[in-house]
Amino acid sequence: MQHLLPTVQFDAQLLQQYDQPVPRYTSYPPATELKPEFETVDFRAAIAVSNYKKTPLSLYCHIPFCDTACYFCGCNTVITQRKAIAAPYLSYLVRHIQQMAQLIDRDRTVHQLHWGGGTPNYLALNQIETLWTALQQQFHFDPNAEISIEVNPKSLDQQYLFSLKNLGFNRISFGIQDFDLKVQEAVNRVQPESMLFDVMQWSRDAGFESVNVDLIYGLPFQTLETYRDTIRKTIQLDPDRIAVFNFAYVPWLKPVQKRIPQAALPSPAEKLKILQMAIEELTQHGYQYIGMDHFAKPGDELSVAQREGQLHRNFQGYTTKPESDLIGFGVTAISMLNDVYVQNHKHLKDFYRTIDAEKLPIERGVTLDQDDIIRRTVIMELMCQFQLSPDDIEEKYHLGFDLDFESYFASEKFQLRRLEADGLIRLSSNHVEVTPAGRLLIRNVASAFDAYLRQNTTSSFSRAV
Ligand code: SF4
Repeated sequence: MQHLLPTVQFDAQLLQQYDQPVPRYTSYPPATELKPEFETVDFRAAIAVSNYKKTPLSLYCHIPFCDTACYFCGCNTVITQRKAIAAPYLSYLVRHIQQMAQLIDRDRTVHQLHWGGGTPNYLALNQIETLWTALQQQFHFDPNAEISIEVNPKSLDQQYLFSLKNLGFNRISFGIQDFDLKVQEAVNRVQPESMLFDVMQWSRDAGFESVNVDLIYGLPFQTLETYRDTIRKTIQLDPDRIAVFNFAYVPWLKPVQKRIPQAALPSPAEKLKILQMAIEELTQHGYQYIGMDHFAKPGDELSVAQREGQLHRNFQGYTTKPESDLIGFGVTAISMLNDVYVQNHKHLKDFYRTIDAEKLPIERGVTLDQDDIIRRTVIMELMCQFQLSPDDIEEKYHLGFDLDFESYFASEKFQLRRLEADGLIRLSSNHVEVTPAGRLLIRNVASAFDAYLRQNTTSSFSRAV
């Protein structure tokens, strides 16, 4: 299959038409399908199978604490300035790492490690080192492993950043959201411009291989002109990757968002103009559209992987690492072992209680069936490559039972024809191709193959635009 040039085309009418709640497909089935009835014995069985297959490992550590609340935040966090809370969490996290390491073969290689939150740099440097050592003692790391961390620029200095790099972190990510002070004040996340430029300079001086920054559009007081300024300053900052997320205003789900002045939110029409401008500015300045809000410099490994058809997606988003088993440590973290997904307890007390009882701290999970696995392959192929070869799917799943793509997905035909008529995809007998206009709505295209979405009428997913 020839790989598509990653161009996008902004079509306001299409974006309005398809602005519906859809999953982000960091997994299929989406995390909303994980259920509390799940038996942990099935997770243990999945680990045994993955040990046998020796699939490389991707590890994730979750640090849930933040010292102040950003009013736009949609994450599960513990907001406190009482830093002492981190010490017991750290000791339970280390015990969780040790618990899992006993189940996983020592000769399996870790090729990816990510620390997220919350705010990983809520931890003091000596606590970072403790966690780092625990991971190094229990797992075998590939010397070329991708090791990344999310940091909050507000609680960072140069020495801290250099220490992270010296330990072995080679990728870093931080949130900007918006450069405009009025916007920053309205969302309780004030980060002076000089601070952001300092953090970027320190990251470069320290030698991080890739620097990612996050922006959000749709925040209060944003206008086309103020956000143009944010985009241009971000380009000046020169990060390797830029994510431009759509703000999901859901105060009924995230009460902290009630503090946002609703009347100051940009209108849907203004948001569309902002999105169009952001895409044009970034692509004109050489950033390649990766998919789902993400842009990267052409030389960044994500861009290279996309051009070579080697892009993948997991609970951490787009990645260059092919099939791997994801193990999540800490509260709310998700593990993903081939056909089993589990999520750890969300509340600290439940997490601590199960670790004390020497049980796996699992709150919910799901075991995929063959249909889930086929649909997952189709959805991830579309999300990462913007195209699909039905022949490849038939070939891949021919073993076990005879799969004819067209008859297997007969009930999706109507939806695919509609997507084609609306100009989101092009269909031929052996190819599904997402058009440049359809790429901005890639979640909607992928959702044609989502068997759960049809049953899920009370959707908790964010909107497409
Ligand atoms: S620092 Fe990040 S995780 Fe913490 S409240 Fe702000 S956005 Fe949420």
